[in-house]
Amino acid sequence: MLPDEQHLQGIKGFLSPVEGRCLYELALAASQTGPCLEIGSYCGKSAVYLGKACQINQAILFTVDHHRGSEEQQPGELWFDPQLYNMQTGSVDTLPGLRHTLAAFDLEDTVVPLVCHSAIAARQWATPLSLIFIDGGHAPATVQTDYEVWVSHLRPGGYLVFHDIYLNPDQGGQAPREVYEQAAASGLFSVQPVVDTLGILKRIFPLNKITH
Ligand code: MG
Repeated sequence: MLPDEQHLQGIKGFLSPVEGRCLYELALAASQTGPCLEIGSYCGKSAVYLGKACQINQAILFTVDHHRGSEEQQPGELWFDPQLYNMQTGSVDTLPGLRHTLAAFDLEDTVVPLVCHSAIAARQWATPLSLIFIDGGHAPATVQTDYEVWVSHLRPGGYLVFHDIYLNPDQGGQAPREVYEQAAASGLFSVQPVVDTLGILKRIFPLNKITH
């Protein structure tokens, strides 16, 4: 069932409750037909929404993150969190936070963490995915790579979801929006209404229709 939002407030993360509920509903429908994949686990807030939906269908959520923090989460940057800094290794480390969240929400039978860059996880991937949630690093090249390496694994009828789509540039970086709009214009997807900052696309054409 939909996770308790008061309980979820204790998890670090940048997902609004409206976005969380939307991810839950999308994953609940999608995961009837195959596993879901998230890029950018961080401390697991969105993995709880997606994972709880997958759990109902006895499906799997793969969640990919190198857990060293994105560009803007490094020391001295806007979103640096000293609680997530490992003094021994001298680097950001969000993996303990994710493991804590998965245990606390009883999701260790459903959510499979992949601790690496998303392009490495994609290199020999061969399983069709029912939902792909792109919420990793927000540098233009990172978002573009995440889209390009995973989009061919989305099954027809599956959802491609981008986080942090800001229609007003004053509210946030534009790289996710630019890649989302590129995907929306590809002809591969039907464009669904934006929910808060979630850009949602539903794949409608088979893979052999992709043109570059
Ligand atoms: Mg985000």
